[in-house]
Amino acid sequence: MQQVKNFINGEFVDGADGKKFDKRSPLTNCVIAQVSEAGIADVDKAVRAARTALQGEWGRLTTEQRVGLLYGVADEITRRFEDFVEAEMVDTGQPRHVMTHAFIPRGAANFKVFADAIKNVPSESFQMATPDGRGALNYAIRVPKGVVGVISPWNAPFLLMTWKVGPALACGNTVVVKPSEETPLTTTLLGEVMNAVGIPKGVFNVIHGFGPNSAGEFLTQHPLIDAITFTGETRTGTAIMKAAADGMRDVSFELGGKNAGIVFADADFDEAVDGIFRSAFLNTGQVCLGTERVYVQRPIFERFVAALKLRAEAVKFGRPDDKNADYGPLISAEHKQKVLGYYAKAVAEGATIVTGGGVPNMPADLADGHWVQPTIWTDLPETATLVREEIFGPCCHLRAFDSEDEVISMANANDYGLSTTIWTTNLACAHRVAARVEVGITWINSWFLRDLRTAFGGSKQSGIGREGGVHSLEFYTETRNICVKL
Ligand code: NAD
Repeated sequence: MQQVKNFINGEFVDGADGKKFDKRSPLTNCVIAQVSEAGIADVDKAVRAARTALQGEWGRLTTEQRVGLLYGVADEITRRFEDFVEAEMVDTGQPRHVMTHAFIPRGAANFKVFADAIKNVPSESFQMATPDGRGALNYAIRVPKGVVGVISPWNAPFLLMTWKVGPALACGNTVVVKPSEETPLTTTLLGEVMNAVGIPKGVFNVIHGFGPNSAGEFLTQHPLIDAITFTGETRTGTAIMKAAADGMRDVSFELGGKNAGIVFADADFDEAVDGIFRSAFLNTGQVCLGTERVYVQRPIFERFVAALKLRAEAVKFGRPDDKNADYGPLISAEHKQKVLGYYAKAVAEGATIVTGGGVPNMPADLADGHWVQPTIWTDLPETATLVREEIFGPCCHLRAFDSEDEVISMANANDYGLSTTIWTTNLACAHRVAARVEVGITWINSWFLRDLRTAFGGSKQSGIGREGGVHSLEFYTETRNICVKL
């Protein structure tokens, strides 16, 4: 049985009280690893190690030296690519191609992109007049925030964790990372990379455990944490924000979504079907940017529903290394129960089930895994639970619309505001709609095209702040103004 340890001050260690929890395979529900749970004393040790590291060798490196080390981290991830792919497949049960094309390369890129960004960031400088005529020079330097608490989810574990650790380290901070209890492996592996590259001890620490009354909460409540960056559910973000209020710690939150896909009748039909299909079902629907509400203009509504149904019914499930498998299982028994709870609610609320609604037949060796069918509904009112709440499974609801104003008002009638996709060949219409939909990210005739230099984040209850490019640098640094009389 694989043993997964915390990584504190450059060493892999068990928790002081020896507590462990099981990591189960999403494919079979069998226990595949035992993970050391960090208690309050271990979290304290990790945070203090991170604080000491700030004042040590790491804090004295020049930007160029830090950048060199982070390039080394990216190169070492690439050298151990297969180890990361394997670990992420074991943790998530998702297909190899998702790991090799997206999750792991993006992890390496997160170190390079922000190393480049910090090298090129300008700083402001103003000449001031003074009453005696000598003048003064006012300029700003960027300093690291300090020790950053990083709390990440399970749905794209390595990509989302490094999206925070990359810029935090590039800016000269030190970090204590609490990965999801569901996906402990790749974050732990990153500890080996940090040691191999020569990142000083204490700069990168990993503590394992759960949220409330466990490592997550202990981390957010620790008084020596200077800032918290979190990706996960909105209600978890609310709890973390309350903890961060003590001590006035800054937060950056990337939270849930209930994203609308808007398909106009003049869209390239096949491209729109393909885009909505991918955005609803990729990663078995476990993508914050996924589309769970689809609005299709009335003249093509029936044809669109039929085409999407065909695509959903052709989905094949299987093990990560099964070349015929499109998708894997949901992450956990608990999440499967939650998604199936929504499937049952759809029936109770009067939805028409276009396809799916249950669990697929799987071979005996995978029968206990967390599989659910891709599911499509129609005919629910906008007030239905299914249309309002984030499900985070392979499913979507479709509704016909007539006018631009009508669809904008339906897209905006939701507490979340993460992303939207607009499908049309009328670019004037696309730009008009994009400007009025209340979200942080809009894709036109595309989905999930990401340039890491651009702003990423949600409006309304989908987040606080923006990350990516200079926006990450803003969060992970503090500007210090210095005024010198000439
Ligand atoms: P979650 O909120 O349950 O857990 C996320 C992390 O927070 C885990 O590491 C968990 O252990 C920790 N945690 C839970 N309670 C805590 C507490 N009280 N204090 C401190 N830490 C705590 O989320 P999840 O189920 O892992 O992830 C799915 C959610 O993440 C979905 O809502 C999805 O939309 C969202 N998400 C958002 C983005 C984005 O960029 N906006 C990206 C990916 C996922």
